[in-house]
Amino acid sequence: MVVHLVGAGPGDPELITLKAVKVLEKAEVVIYDRLANEEILKHAPHAKLIYVGKKAGEHYKTQEEINKILIDEAKAHDEVVRLKGGDPFVFGRGGEEVLALQEEGISVDMIPGITSAIGVPTTIGLPVTHRGVATSFTVVTGHEDPTKKEKQVKWDYTADTVVVLMGIGQIAENTQEMMKYRDPETPVCVIEKGTTPEERIITGTLENISKKDINPPALLIVGNVVDVYKKMKK
Ligand code: SAH
Repeated sequence: MVVHLVGAGPGDPELITLKAVKVLEKAEVVIYDRLANEEILKHAPHAKLIYVGKKAGEHYKTQEEINKILIDEAKAHDEVVRLKGGDPFVFGRGGEEVLALQEEGISVDMIPGITSAIGVPTTIGLPVTHRGVATSFTVVTGHEDPTKKEKQVKWDYTADTVVVLMGIGQIAENTQEMMKYRDPETPVCVIEKGTTPEERIITGTLENISKKDINPPALLIVGNVVDVYKKMKK
């Protein structure tokens, strides 16, 4: 009765850890969200696969329902893998799942993954820090839970580089807010479906990026490091 909470990496199926592959190989059950690449599931040939992500036009499972599935499967099997895109603790609600499982006396083994927030920029040659350009970065959600009473995201971050996840639906509002604190000419880079064959890279400025054709899943990188990306040979 152990649940391995595993990060699957940002998309490219080779960007998963050896440790993750090892636990997938012996998994009896794999509970997974939508993954950029389902090829990763091939590492778990013996497992029952349970999909708990979003499906177009269908009601998707609440966090409580997912927690219940995890608990029930963990009680019925020795080796359960909970697989999540990127890193399980970066906007993945992994922490909530760990707490729910531990409350039931179930042990959890946590295996990190390459988060899209840093891994995707790296694969295109965009460093989130760069000597003389950026000494800090912030990773923020562009889509705060609409049921929250008070917004936690205020867009007044002082880090040199800001990486926005889940920010495409509200890109116009978010960039508008950021321009209250940053020059509208600040360079911006959007990476759509990074590390996959459908990857697209779009560059612009805080002022004009929202007018471009962008589709999720994508992340937004704001800051002068985008100029370093433009210089780097591909
Ligand atoms: N736990 C994940 C993030 C989950 S939130 C991680 O660590 O990467 C989902 C958001 O991540 C998406 O809305 C998008 O902003 C970003 N994302 C995930 N995979 C991506 C990819 N391959 N390319 C671009 N953005 C990606």
